[in-house]
Amino acid sequence: MVDKLGDWVRTHTCGDLRGAQIGQNVLLLGWVHRVRDLGHLVFVDVRDRYGLTQIVVDGEHLRDRAKHLRAEFVIGVKGRVRARAPEALNPKMPTGEVEVQAVEIKTLSEARVPPFVIADEVTANDDLRLKYRYLDLRRPALQANLGLRHRVTLAVRKYFDAQRFWEIETPVLTKSTPEGARDYLVPSRVHPGEFYALPQSPQIFKQILMIAGTDRYFQIVKCFRDEDLRADRQPEFTQIDVEMSFATRELVFAAIEPLMRDIFQVIGRDIATPFARMSYADAIARYGSDKPDLRVGMAIADLSGGFADSTFSVFRDAVAGGGVVRGLVVPGAASYSRKQLDDLSAQAREMGAGGLVWARRSGDVVQSSALKAAGADAIAAVLAEAGAGATDLLLMAAGPAEATSKVLGALRLDIAKREGWLKPDEYAFVWVVDFPLLEWDGEEKRWVAMHHPFTSPIEAHMDRMEQEPGQVLAQAYDLVLNGSEIGGGSIRIHDNALQQRMFRLLGISDEDAKLRFGFFLEALEYGTPPHGGIALGLDRIVAILAGESSIRDVIAFPKTAQAVDLMSTAPTPVSLAQLRELRLKTDA
Ligand code: ASP
Repeated sequence: MVDKLGDWVRTHTCGDLRGAQIGQNVLLLGWVHRVRDLGHLVFVDVRDRYGLTQIVVDGEHLRDRAKHLRAEFVIGVKGRVRARAPEALNPKMPTGEVEVQAVEIKTLSEARVPPFVIADEVTANDDLRLKYRYLDLRRPALQANLGLRHRVTLAVRKYFDAQRFWEIETPVLTKSTPEGARDYLVPSRVHPGEFYALPQSPQIFKQILMIAGTDRYFQIVKCFRDEDLRADRQPEFTQIDVEMSFATRELVFAAIEPLMRDIFQVIGRDIATPFARMSYADAIARYGSDKPDLRVGMAIADLSGGFADSTFSVFRDAVAGGGVVRGLVVPGAASYSRKQLDDLSAQAREMGAGGLVWARRSGDVVQSSALKAAGADAIAAVLAEAGAGATDLLLMAAGPAEATSKVLGALRLDIAKREGWLKPDEYAFVWVVDFPLLEWDGEEKRWVAMHHPFTSPIEAHMDRMEQEPGQVLAQAYDLVLNGSEIGGGSIRIHDNALQQRMFRLLGISDEDAKLRFGFFLEALEYGTPPHGGIALGLDRIVAILAGESSIRDVIAFPKTAQAVDLMSTAPTPVSLAQLRELRLKTDA
């Protein structure tokens, strides 16, 4: 039987009551978390966003009522706050000093038996949790994540407001502005056969806002990319999008570092600024990645010199063939067992390395998988060159420079993870700078923009774009935190002629450029301030702050890796009538 709410108004939330309220009459509203029936007494834990309060029910009439309550019923309780018996105090609960002795109980709505228990230890599988997202979201951990996300966006807005940025909305129904992924398209009913695209980012609009004189823009904005989903990506995600007129890279960094400081203040953490910086070339060579995790050291060292004339033909030939020998010192790992070393070699081979050579000291002797081939002196010399101490292990691989660093970089991360060296509450920021402007797309056989086509080359390289496209560096930067790219941006091209040269380099004909970007190229001709900006991934940042490994856990209604919303079941077929109205046919 369900009761009417009537004039019941809550006096407190389920997280409010403390010793100070003992003796007060209160009214609580919330969900039944748990019912414990002791026969003469029934305990009901009632829960809401703010916490959990224990209700005690005695007295025959009320007890019967309480015995009919089930998990997730919504109830109202009038009662009096009293101290718990000393043996019942629960210091782990903020309300653990008190309980409410019920005087009257209302059942405001009943609930079906939930498909999983609402508790922080998740036992249900992911698909079930997503289907019943409203139940999953009742878990305190997810409630806390939503609250954290709210506080972060609030901090972002406060920060930018204080810095005289304006939040300006850009359209969702727009023209395709490619960022390298596929667009989501929306058919136009009024213009049959024509389509809007959902923005992959507000890139062109924010640049046009600079031309429009708005000077400093930000927006917390949904972006859409129709990618084959890689791990932990969402087809729609949220960016903190930023653009500044008269910006230099330094000005952008100077705007973003204090923003990150404010964001981390939300969880009470002081982060150190300015952030470290590293060139893209260095990141690839020394960490095998353009998003190095700098919570651990273990930089990759070039050891090619020691093997140019070596008796160890594998390494000598690699160097002679234009390749490199590179090594990684793993601190304290000299004690690894034979099996651990074999596993590492197998892992390296799986990742495409020809092989992995290890070396270490054992007292005065050196040991190495290449001891016979290379000789003890050479191994001792290379251990010294790499800076390996008495208890360290040196891992070496040879081959083409980038591929070799990538293998060692992946081993570095794996080992660091396994050894527990990557602490989730330690934050290592680094700006990766000096990206190449272009990269060669082997499949399409053309140059593609490494960041996007609106990124400016560095001034000193502007004349060489056509002659040496592969050598040109961009005024682009990524912000990396603990091995995740949390943001990326650039100083933009603000000159029409340069923008057109860029399109030509990318194999976009002048006609095509006019068709796709004509409005933007024209805008560039009406007095464009030099400008630049960045976009930060809000979902990833909040996930890191929350200590969650997946961005799904900080998004209220995420989609699966197949881009499906399991709760609403989107995407779904639409009626023929709808298609006809849009003059669309499908052959699905
Ligand atoms: N629009 C870029 C992106 O979404 C960011 C930027 O260059 O500001 O990655």
